[in-house]
Amino acid sequence: MPDLSRVLPEAHIPELPDPYYGKVRDCYDLPDGRRLLISSDRISAFDRILAAIPFKGQVLTQTARFWFDATSDICPNHVLSYPDPNVVLARRVTILPVEVVVRGYLAGTTGTSVLTLYKQGVREMYGHRLPDGLRDNEVLPAPLITPTSKAFDGGHDEPLTEAEIVAQGLLTRAQWDEVSAKALALFARGQAMAAERGLILVDTKYEFGLDEEGRILIADEIHTPDSSRYWIASGYEEAFRTGQRPPSFDKDVIRAWVAARCDPYRDPIPEIPDEMIRRTSEVYIEAFETITGRPFEPDLSGATPLERIRANLAPHFTR
Ligand code: ADP
Ligand code: MG
Repeated sequence: MPDLSRVLPEAHIPELPDPYYGKVRDCYDLPDGRRLLISSDRISAFDRILAAIPFKGQVLTQTARFWFDATSDICPNHVLSYPDPNVVLARRVTILPVEVVVRGYLAGTTGTSVLTLYKQGVREMYGHRLPDGLRDNEVLPAPLITPTSKAFDGGHDEPLTEAEIVAQGLLTRAQWDEVSAKALALFARGQAMAAERGLILVDTKYEFGLDEEGRILIADEIHTPDSSRYWIASGYEEAFRTGQRPPSFDKDVIRAWVAARCDPYRDPIPEIPDEMIRRTSEVYIEAFETITGRPFEPDLSGATPLERIRANLAPHFTR
């Protein structure tokens, strides 16, 4: 039973330089070209923070760690070390202005998802042509890259084609060719390893960046429950046949609960019941254990998670 008081809503540490407080991670740029990314326990949706979920930050960091380790032969990544279970010390890169989404199935609910567009009758999307007659949640003939512009200023992602990416000068042709080949190879590895664990890696989002020498690294996070959709393979066929949504890690109950009670983009967020927070924490932990095949070991050291992180990061304090 997760202890609801052991939570990391934010990691604001005044002794660390150059903060960037993201939707989920609180980041600091060290003067020597490294970047600390601290995964908080925030759950974000509808452009705002809904709640803090105990151990979510540790789960995300450790899931990404599992996948960075498992894919470093395919693509070099930004990781230098893990000073704390919630923290990655990374090579700072210039994030490329394109979010590289890869999709294996006709799925999704947002305005940019292939299922939403397909149901509106669109067949030409992201520079690909989809056949008629596909059904909800059907496997695509081959995984597709559906890039979107990266909205650095809190704006919304817009669909792109590879022709637009190159024509608009977002990436050079050579950079796009490299990034897209790497993304497909990472996704193929992800799907194969997920299958061994009884999971389907449905779709995911990658962020690539350029290091000082102009090398392309995979940055941010990889194949985490926040950046990816997973389905439970054993329930897929039946769900697909009967037109139901395939079973997945049910981590979106809070989103659904909030959306059912208010206009989540405008109204104040109602207080979320403890039971729902506890349940969501358990789902994240279950996701970690199923994806990696390893037991989750919550770090309970220190008076609070923030105290522990401060102690582990003290060597990087600049004031
Ligand atoms: P956001 O709200 O911008 O998505 P996040 O909560 O995801 O923020 O925090 C991570 C931020 O750090 C993102 O903006 C991501 O693009 C950026 N980032 C991730 N890895 C690196 C890196 N190695 N170098 C520079 N920026 C990075
Ligand atoms: Mg992000």
